[in-house]
Amino acid sequence: MGMFELDTLNSDQMYSDQRERGHLQYKIPKTNEEFKQFRQYYLLLRWELDKMEKILHEKRVEFEKACGHDWVKDWDNRDERSRWKCTKCTKFR
Ligand SMILES: [Zn+2]
Repeated sequence: MGMFELDTLNSDQMYSDQRERGHLQYKIPKTNEEFKQFRQYYLLLRWELDKMEKILHEKRVEFEKACGHDWVKDWDNRDERSRWKCTKCTKFR
């Protein structure tokens, strides 16, 4: 991914963006060529994201089924309906 590395780090914002994205690095395209590379990189990430989403769903179901749930009130939820969440997995009810 070398060609997508940030070439400038002259602002706090850029530094913070880079840090939060970890190894995912890109710069705003300034030329047509850079834009084409940017688009290729986007499509690659998009494809990876689709794969991750599939794994996420499969693993969530798998872990939730195997879990001996421990329910606690979900205080973060601002919804009027009361919700509970499991402390051990990602399941809500
Ligand atoms: Zn659980």
